[in-house]
Amino acid sequence: MDTDAIGDIVDKLKAMQNDNVEDQDEYDDVDEDDEEEEHEPITLGFFDKPKNKWSLQRQYFPSKAGGVPAWLDPLNIPSGGSFVCDICGDPLQFLLQVYAPTEKETAFHRMLFVFMCPSMKCLLRDQHEQWKHHPEKPSRSVKVFRCQLPCVNPFYSQECPQNNESHKPAGCGAVLCDWCGTWKGDKVCSSCKQARYCSEKHQVMSWRAGHKIACPQMQISSPVSGSNKSETTLFESQKVGSKNLWPEFEIIIEDESEDNRDTSEENTLSNSLISRTRADDTMNSIFDSFQGDADKKSWASFQECIDNAPEQVLRYYRNTNAKPIWPVSSGRPSNADIPRCSYCSGPMSCEFQILPQLLYYFGVDNEVDSLDWASIVVYACEASCDASLPYKHEFAWVQIYSPSTAL
Ligand SMILES: [Zn+2]
Ligand SMILES: [Zn+2]
Ligand SMILES: [Zn+2]
Ligand SMILES: [Zn+2]
Repeated sequence: MDTDAIGDIVDKLKAMQNDNVEDQDEYDDVDEDDEEEEHEPITLGFFDKPKNKWSLQRQYFPSKAGGVPAWLDPLNIPSGGSFVCDICGDPLQFLLQVYAPTEKETAFHRMLFVFMCPSMKCLLRDQHEQWKHHPEKPSRSVKVFRCQLPCVNPFYSQECPQNNESHKPAGCGAVLCDWCGTWKGDKVCSSCKQARYCSEKHQVMSWRAGHKIACPQMQISSPVSGSNKSETTLFESQKVGSKNLWPEFEIIIEDESEDNRDTSEENTLSNSLISRTRADDTMNSIFDSFQGDADKKSWASFQECIDNAPEQVLRYYRNTNAKPIWPVSSGRPSNADIPRCSYCSGPMSCEFQILPQLLYYFGVDNEVDSLDWASIVVYACEASCDASLPYKHEFAWVQIYSPSTAL
């Protein structure tokens, strides 16, 4: 894709914020025969292989999935209890991020980040927590953060990013974990005093994976000063020891009504077509496993919606009247299940939905205990309120296929 792509995505998201309200009338008479679901055209996200090494860096404000996050505020990234799975205590894994600026001055740049624990065991426990109404301290394995910045900020120039490799962000980022490349590397290896980790867990994994051998050699080579180290992580791609990060994709944004996915792209998406076949098989077997008619009806309606663009991974709803499409009828939240913003107490609105198709792109096995969900719906503060916290917690509703384990 040409280098205008990034600008296009930004423009589309910005335009979407403004236009959708006016556009709604045109589509009011669509799908009159389906009272339960409103199939209003929305914006869809598709996965594509990154075009180059640099376009998913933070100064280009990417919507992306897998790999490491492109932190919008690269300095004050979530730490403490925020970055771990509340159930097993392991650091969370980066799922995806969506660039969704608003008209609001302080949300000139606005990014939503989704993290989750890759353990299905934890996700099943997370389900129990989800159904508790507004627990004081929610215990979740899926976490969403909202970060926003005004046009004038310490990290990025006011000019539109130049779409080339030489464009650099202003200001340094925090030093990150050498293992996951995701979270702050606050812990330093006591032997070499160079390797940095977010957690003991990642230090142990790194040690076993080879730091045991590398560490004595790093002690001999001249130690790197702290400032050099942070520049290295800023201007080169972050070194990541872990082989278990999910594969990295760019998220391409398109309108649902657009039926013009470039056929020339089909060639470059060859691996996604394979995934789709696999996905179809699994989808059919899921359908067969449903007992109740309600689930079957819900599933059929979901499939109908997806069929227009079967490779969609993300459905973006903000500022539309469209509602998430639920693959199964059980395990949907009622309005009362969606909490209010924990910062301004205002309402939260549905921002986007992550479809289970994502798991196929991520190459997640289809085993009994593999990570799986029917839908993840992200709700964010409707007002995009400004709290002093750089990364604000938002809310995710996770629907899984097996209601018996959810209750
Ligand atoms: Zn966990
Ligand atoms: Zn780490
Ligand atoms: Zn070491
Ligand atoms: Zn709020």
